[in-house]
Amino acid sequence: MIKKAILCPECDLLLEQASVREGEKLLCPRCGAVLDAPKKHSVEKVLALTSTGILLYAPAIFLPLLTFDAAGLESTGSIADSFMALMDTHFYFTGIMVFLTTIFIPLVKLMMLFAVAAVIQTGRSTRKTAVMFRYYQHMDEWGMLEVYMIGILVTIIKMLHIAHVQYDVGFYCFIGLLAATLGSAAVLDKSQFWKLIDRQATEKERAGGADPCGQKGVIPAETAADAGARL
Ligand SMILES: [Zn+2]
Repeated sequence: MIKKAILCPECDLLLEQASVREGEKLLCPRCGAVLDAPKKHSVEKVLALTSTGILLYAPAIFLPLLTFDAAGLESTGSIADSFMALMDTHFYFTGIMVFLTTIFIPLVKLMMLFAVAAVIQTGRSTRKTAVMFRYYQHMDEWGMLEVYMIGILVTIIKMLHIAHVQYDVGFYCFIGLLAATLGSAAVLDKSQFWKLIDRQATEKERAGGADPCGQKGVIPAETAADAGARL
């Protein structure tokens, strides 16, 4: 049987694939980088956190975050309001960046990760699931809710001396959304997700009599048996 090889992403050392159990870590012998560290119940935890994030998304974005009261003048606003205010004042580039990194991409990321985890959980992964998970990984660095959170905190600290600050429902929902987003990324075991997608998709192709090599013919024919041996 052909042995599977893995490449250290830090120092490019080529190593033979070894099976790792939950609680163990596979380290590169040359540079010490963590190559694999299985996490317990990753799929279930990702499902729970992404569905929480999706539920909190609308109130976090559209409900008022804070109310400032200075000398009888009240001012309040949501994240959606901040985007509209930037566009109204002709800060188009900043407005579009806020829209993409705080409103659009965080939602797409949550929905994509939820969809991938739900498909894996039901055992129905296909090669399309692999493509979606790959796109999710590309989008990962574009969601910047935490940067927006720093902006909110800086505003609170600056305004505390000159205005009374009231925390609205949107603020607590935004903290929940941020925690769910960061938490889902923390409990995500990418290596396990890839193994499960590969195994389920290959089994489906075998059962359906399809060519496991797909159209491009780049996946070795021993994938299913080998995946079974590895997992
Ligand atoms: Zn290495």
